[in-house]
Amino acid sequence: VDLPIHDAVLARAAEFGDIPALIDGTDGTTLSYEQVDRFHRRVAAALAEAGVRKGDVLALHSPNTIAFPTAFYAATRAGAPVTTVHPLATADEFAKQLRDSAARWIVTVSPLLDVARRAAELAGGVREIFVCDSASGHRSLIDMLASAAPEPRVAIDPTEDIAALPYSSGTTGTPKGVMLTHRQIATNLAQLHPAIPAGPGDRVLAVLPFFHIYGLTALMNAPLRQGATVVVLPRFDLEQFLAAVQNHRITALYVAPPIVLALAKHPAVAQYDLSSLRYIISAAAPLDARLAAACSQRLGLPPVGQAYGMTELSPGTHVVPLDAMDDAPPGTVGKLIAGTEMRIVSLDDPGKDLPAGASGEILIRGPQIMKGYLGRPDATTAMIDPDGWLHTGDVGHVDDDGWLFVVDRVKELIKYKGFQVAPAELEALLLTHPGIADAAVIGRYDDDGNEAPHAYVVRQPSAADLTEAEIMMYVAERVAPYKRIRHVTFIVGVPRAASGKILRRQLRESA
Ligand code: ATP
Ligand code: MG
Repeated sequence: VDLPIHDAVLARAAEFGDIPALIDGTDGTTLSYEQVDRFHRRVAAALAEAGVRKGDVLALHSPNTIAFPTAFYAATRAGAPVTTVHPLATADEFAKQLRDSAARWIVTVSPLLDVARRAAELAGGVREIFVCDSASGHRSLIDMLASAAPEPRVAIDPTEDIAALPYSSGTTGTPKGVMLTHRQIATNLAQLHPAIPAGPGDRVLAVLPFFHIYGLTALMNAPLRQGATVVVLPRFDLEQFLAAVQNHRITALYVAPPIVLALAKHPAVAQYDLSSLRYIISAAAPLDARLAAACSQRLGLPPVGQAYGMTELSPGTHVVPLDAMDDAPPGTVGKLIAGTEMRIVSLDDPGKDLPAGASGEILIRGPQIMKGYLGRPDATTAMIDPDGWLHTGDVGHVDDDGWLFVVDRVKELIKYKGFQVAPAELEALLLTHPGIADAAVIGRYDDDGNEAPHAYVVRQPSAADLTEAEIMMYVAERVAPYKRIRHVTFIVGVPRAASGKILRRQLRESA
């Protein structure tokens, strides 16, 4: 763990040699471990020759491609912290991130070059834009492979130097730049490894974005560190996803709840041979036990396991170990990983630790806690207390055996006449209705000044006549009176972040 991240991940690349490291799921192009290792060193040399210096921030602006890891490790080897950018960001959004991170270099892909150029103009301070693929007039990573420049000798201090500067999802506010050191990321990989070992012969499907810390960890760093093969898809399209599982004989899926929902409910699933799959892990947002069970039963798999974390935690703290998938209690996000401490404290009295079974805020302490938010010391101290405990803002409880259950975010809890209602619980219940394809719940203030649950529902095509009254009745029959849904709005799709989280903020703004 005291290696720079590129060395920690590619430590065994020479040994893995010809094993495919990355396969393009759309056209089959393959990069071996030997190639990724050689290519990222060449590109690092060319970046240094182009002027990239230790500490210069490099913005990596790309959908998932097989070149993404090469670009990432080349940048870190050249000493540049990488800030990953949402490939669908507008020029304004991208410019904001460039300005906030004071980025000096951009690596993008040809189809996004115009947006990157515009963002660089708006932000100022960017010295050069490179593309991963060939495009006229721009240095590409492919040209760089021919570079004869010597490998840069950059002295990296894994404990202090920033490897990645991802932005949190912005689910609850403005995205913040999260400073993660080489050591924090490498330590977390080592901590997560025993729970989810993989190796040569394992094939994972990378459809969640690499730019988000979950994809970066579960679909890039972890499998490449272990000699597995990563099949890369640029975006989620259910049929393409299922075809890739079938044709590439995918063994493991790391997904978010919307994909579990599709696997549990979509008719297309039955038309594919998914028998190569050994397990599925979901993270990034609450996953209901009934939905998880429906998915695994349908696919004939062990129960869908979960992991829990956040960008600020590099990102993991909990996972259901592979060897415990069959026995873990339904709905758990897993057990605390080694070298990490957790407390559950009262929401009303934050100094008070709660016993097993009681729900409160989840606090974490461990070596994977971020160095801080970039340029926001106040936000950093608001989140990490002087004793080193990070306040996650999530509500949860543990059972007597230490399994953690996440209820929802503190901020999302609806306070109905003094009672607390977790939107995630109602969303999960709504999804058990056969006529409901998708659902989201937020609190909305009634005329009498009470905050009450308001459901946004996507009907199944076969249930176009499902009414508000039927939905309210369905929920009312199954929950305590204070949890009842008081309003229903029908929508065509639930707004979600790239990591799969419901953007409740957007629903609130549209209300
Ligand atoms: P921002 O902090 O900018 O508002 P965000 O919190 O959505 O955005 P991330 O770091 O991507 O940004 O997400 C971390 C959050 O995701 C956690 O705090 C938690 O609320 C949620 N989460 C992650 N894994 C799980 C899980 N297994 N079950 C429930 N919630 C989860
Ligand atoms: Mg957050």
